[in-house]
Parts: sequence; C-alpha cells; structure tokens
Amino acid sequence: MSIQTIGVIGAGQMGNGIAHVMALADYNVMLTDVSQDALDAALNGIQGNLARQVSRGKISEEAMAGTLARIQTTLSLADLGATDLVIEAATERESVKQAIFEDLQPHLQPHTILTSNTSSISITRLASRTDRPERFMGFHFMNPVPVMQLVELIRGIATDQATYEACQQVVARLGKTAASAEDFPGFIVNRILMPMINEAVYTLYEGVGNVQSIDQSMKLGANHPMGPLELADFIGLDTCLAIMNVLHDGLADTKYRPCPLLTKYVEAGWLGRKSQRGFYDYRGDVPVPTR
Ligand code: NAD
Repeated sequence: MSIQTIGVIGAGQMGNGIAHVMALADYNVMLTDVSQDALDAALNGIQGNLARQVSRGKISEEAMAGTLARIQTTLSLADLGATDLVIEAATERESVKQAIFEDLQPHLQPHTILTSNTSSISITRLASRTDRPERFMGFHFMNPVPVMQLVELIRGIATDQATYEACQQVVARLGKTAASAEDFPGFIVNRILMPMINEAVYTLYEGVGNVQSIDQSMKLGANHPMGPLELADFIGLDTCLAIMNVLHDGLADTKYRPCPLLTKYVEAGWLGRKSQRGFYDYRGDVPVPTR
C-alpha cells in the first residue's frame, strides 16, 4: 500500500505539528479545519518551527521551502478525497470526531486509511461507525509533534494487518518510533500520565502544595523534565479533563475521577498555554502561578 498524500483534520497544536513532520518527510499534506484562523495560525506556526530547525542546522533552507510547498490548506473535507491516509486531530470530543468521519466518508477512495490522533477515545467504537473498520486505527502523536520521538499505534478490534503495517511504515519514514498499544482507554501513555497529572491537581486542591512547590518537587525529586501542572498547561486542561473522563467512564473505577479543581479551571476557560492561562498565567514575560 503506497501512501503519498496525507489528510490532516484539525489544525490546532497537534494538527499543525503532524502536517509539519509529514511534509518534511516528503508526503503531500492537505490540512483542514473549520476555522480559517486556525489554518492561518497553523501555517504561521509551521513556518516558525521550520525556521527554528533551519537556524539550529537541523534542516536546510531547501528542505524548509519544500516542506511548506507540500502543505495545502482547505476548509472543505471534500478536498481530502485524493488522500491515501487521513489523520484526524480535531477537538477531543467523540461527537465531533464521529461527525467528521461521517461527512468525510463519501469523498474517500476505497483504499484510504482512516486514523485518529485521539488521546483516549475508543478506536474500535470510532471505527465501527465508519464504512471501513478494517482500515481504521489510532495514530497517536505526542506533543510537540516535531520534537517527540514516540507514536502510539492502536489497533481496533477489526484493524487488518496491512493497515497496521502501512502506518508502521509511515512512522518509520518520519524517523520516529512506534509503540503498539491495545485499544483500552488512554492506551499506554495517557493511562499512566493522566492519573499522575490529575493527582498533582488533587495535591493542589487539597493544599498539600502550591503550583510552584508541586512542579518543583516532581522536577527535582523525580527528575521529570517538566512539572505535572506545567505539563498539563502545555497539553491543554480541556484535553486532560476529557481524557480523565474517558478513563473514568471506560474503566469504571473511582480512582480515575477527575479532580473538581481541574473541572473548575476548564469551566473558567483557563485551558493552559493555548488560552494564556491555566495553572500558570502566561500573559506576562514569565509564567506566574495562579495558585
Ligand atoms: P486544539 O484545541 O489545539 O485543536 C483542535 C482543532 O480542531 C481546532 O483548530 C479546531 O478548530 C479544530 N476542529 C474542531 N472541530 C472540527 C471539525 N469539525 N473539523 C475540522 N477541525 C475541527 O487540540 P489539540 O491539542 O491539537 O488536540 C487535537 C487532538 O489531538 C485531540 O484528539 C487530542 O486528544 C489529541 N492529542 C492532543 C495532545 C496534546 O498534548 N494536546 C497530544 C496527543 C493527542
């Protein structure tokens, strides 16, 4: 199965990174979003990130120009009709993802592989509502995509071997490493990472520590490169909450209940870096803890 053209749905922080690494690896990319502003911001972001790679001597100016030339943007899902592989990276809400696959399906070629970058939603369930559950799987990048080495590949119950191998080959061409995960809530990385972040929020909620002492403790005491609250802001608090809800619902264990303080931040619209405020306030020159 030869993959040349890749559709990326959702041009947020993950979608723009996925478009970047795919185009840099010589794939043609069609990037789509419901918002023209998101598409414009994504292209700007990609340009800035590529320029940084050039200035650090990681890629050449020609590679940067070629990468940008291979990315097209569109507001219409119909323009993804000629793609061989689609990676959906829209908002982490099942109804949003389901509606996207429903609208996309009539435009696709029979061989096209559908994948989702979802952090936690059941691949088997998303696949079962499409016309091609055997050519559907999870293609889960880590944030920031151009930097992080791992891609989790998640097979739904019906995913066929050819689809799995085609995705493995794409990961190899990106120079990244694939880890195979079974389709259970949170897969591997988020099954372990999110309860830790949620516990850090409980630690804050119960007053055991403040934002600074919690992050400092885990950086210096557990040798984590980022503190858990800093990391939560980086991921997006809405995404963290959505993943905790999926773990809680899917595994039916109260140990996964989302911390009420995490819910409160999301209700306030304090979603982390992307909204300029979360456990830290990013509106000034340096991040300032909000608690
Ligand atoms: P984001 O909020 O930055 O971006 C989501 C984008 O989807 C927005 O630009 C929005 O306009 C767009 N969108 C919403 N509805 C759409 C539709 N119907 N059609 C097309 N585009 C639509 O979110 P993100 O952090 O990039 O997350 C995207 C996906 O990647 C989620 O499934 C998330 O779970 C997953 N993910 C996120 C991270 C992370 O660290 N943020 C890591 C791995 C995977």
